Amino acid sequence: MMKINAPLQTLNVEKIRKDFPILLRKVNGKPLVYFDNAATSQTPQQVIDVIVDYYSNYNANIHRGVHTLSQEATDKYEHARDTIQRHFNAKHKHEIILTSGTTHGINLVASGFSSFLKKGDEVLVSALEHHSNIVPWQMLCERSGATLRVIPMNQEGELILSEYDKLLSDKTKLVFVNHISNALGTINPIEEIIKKAHNVGAAVLVDGAQACPHLKPDVQALDVDFYVTSAHKMCGPTGVGMLYGKEEWLKKLPPYQGGGEMIAEVTFEKTTYADLPHKFEAGTPNICGGIAFGAAVDYMNNIGFDAIAKYEHELLVYATQKLLDIHGLKIYGTAKNKTSVISFNLDGIHPYDIGTILDKMGIAVRTGHHCAQPIMDFYQIPGTVRASFAFYNTKEEIDKLVDGVKKAQRMLT
Ligand SMILES: *Cc1c(COP(=O)(O)O)cnc(C)c1O
Repeated sequence: MMKINAPLQTLNVEKIRKDFPILLRKVNGKPLVYFDNAATSQTPQQVIDVIVDYYSNYNANIHRGVHTLSQEATDKYEHARDTIQRHFNAKHKHEIILTSGTTHGINLVASGFSSFLKKGDEVLVSALEHHSNIVPWQMLCERSGATLRVIPMNQEGELILSEYDKLLSDKTKLVFVNHISNALGTINPIEEIIKKAHNVGAAVLVDGAQACPHLKPDVQALDVDFYVTSAHKMCGPTGVGMLYGKEEWLKKLPPYQGGGEMIAEVTFEKTTYADLPHKFEAGTPNICGGIAFGAAVDYMNNIGFDAIAKYEHELLVYATQKLLDIHGLKIYGTAKNKTSVISFNLDGIHPYDIGTILDKMGIAVRTGHHCAQPIMDFYQIPGTVRASFAFYNTKEEIDKLVDGVKKAQRMLT
């Protein structure tokens, strides 16, 4: 275990914080301490500038007009797709579908799979999922007659792989798992999960929304069939994200929405679809958002994911030890392999009341079930307080959180 009082030196955080104008803000008269990064991350000036530049200088629809603005917008949008392809190491550019976010990507795949599944088939979903990775699969099973089965978790918040082995069979067609749990921070062993699924001929979709702010996934090395994420969890804007799919899967999947931009030819008798990726990109997309997503990926790579991971781990260790010193505080999710998310409760106190007091002190945390009610049911609690740290947070901010939690405890007991 590292010394908890050693200075954190892996990143120049003071300099990084200057990139985020919102961090200068006061909330209820106190400097903002933003610990709700697992819900959405903050946006650096470099990304804000790209958004302002788009609307100030070249706002136009893409892939359509021959005029200069449309071509500039198209070039920048496609350049963002290149950046995202390189970042995730997809083999082909057309394997990157720009979506409105993780939820959209999951629904696109779930909807397309309806035609591949029949009664008796099974789809496996992990016990650690976000609602957006549960409900679409339930709807898919209702439509197709397939059965949903759940890979269980243990008290630490880790998936039980021996149970996963027992669930896998030649009936298994699809496995859905998040890379990192948003409620507990558990990093799931997706390499192993993917390999085992492929051994029985099942496809795997990984929800990477919570992983992409912390690490750099390599979709080819993972050999994953589908990988989805949202830009707003990794310093980009809301309402845009990515679905990666292996070319052979994307060719087989039917389009999700009909409309402009996704067709090759339209007559009233028959429409033929555009090539990938446009087959899945009906209508005018979030053009500015896509371009800003590319800028966010560049921004994070400039800081460096190795340095980010190392620094955030230091924050996690520091905060865990400090919080556990508080009498009556329990942390949910103690996986060996986890990111900088701490879900906790104080004995006899509702998480909402703690969150409200912390807000008065300028500290933003999430309270509630974190869109993961099955996990809360597992622990038999209504919810937790969740503090989630990013690379722009500091030890001093964690000290404020710890003081705030102690104060809340004094006020509420
Ligand atoms: C945030 C999140 C989602 C949902 O992302 P949207 O941007 O709301 O579509 C899904 N899964 C996980 C693990 C998340 O953290």
